[in-house]
Amino acid sequence: MIEGPLRKMRTELNEPIDYYMTFPSVFVRVNDLIGKSISLIHTGFSCMSCGIDQPIFRQGFCKSCFFEMPSAGDWVMRPELSQAHLDIEDRDLSYEKKVQLQPHIVYLAVSSGLKVGVTRKTQVPTRWIDQGAHQTIPIVEVPNRYLAGITEVALKVHYSDKTNWRQMLTQTPEPIDLIAERERALSYLPDEVKDYASSALQEKTLSLQFPLQSPPPSVTSVNLVKAKQFTGTLVGIKGQYLIFSDHKVMNVRGHEGVCVSLSAA
Ligand SMILES: [Zn+2]
Repeated sequence: MIEGPLRKMRTELNEPIDYYMTFPSVFVRVNDLIGKSISLIHTGFSCMSCGIDQPIFRQGFCKSCFFEMPSAGDWVMRPELSQAHLDIEDRDLSYEKKVQLQPHIVYLAVSSGLKVGVTRKTQVPTRWIDQGAHQTIPIVEVPNRYLAGITEVALKVHYSDKTNWRQMLTQTPEPIDLIAERERALSYLPDEVKDYASSALQEKTLSLQFPLQSPPPSVTSVNLVKAKQFTGTLVGIKGQYLIFSDHKVMNVRGHEGVCVSLSAA
């Protein structure tokens, strides 16, 4: 029996991708659990910031931490609101400078369909794996989060910026010529970013392979907080989802801060 709060699964870019669950006392290679029956029991909560046993509000944080933590500011989900490059504080300027003033990548990914996204360069390829992307290509590399954000806003006119998780889990998308698509995307760059147009041209298309033999025809999502417990045979992993034999799926990232006891047989 393994006990502790769920965290986003760690990953390693192999063929297929390797997934790990980290608990206070143990590190579990989730790929090894494929084919096994897994039981999860909800035992409480542990906010990822303060550790309090109160319901998780969003992103693994209790309600008060979510509204106070510098890592949960609006600029996280909306990079174009970043202002550290202007020395303007949102919640904690030194934290915001550390996170925002570093190389960011604007990319195209094929997850549920073709989409545009932004990530810190250090989060490549983690971000792509977490989205369940089959193919990805960087469009530009820029020196801060604001420039990445305004690029994404300009590209959102032409590309989706969302992943439809149901579609991502139930379909294997047709390959897309991302080199050609990047050419098109580069023509939409905002003026402030045009100087960076050649910053990622040496980057090639990356293809990702998930440990999932065949996608389920439909999916029903498991909410462990509501269900209190769940048992199912693991058949695969994609994005941050565990996929079970009866088309049940569980978003591990969506359960960050939820304490469980886990057993596998
Ligand atoms: Zn908290």
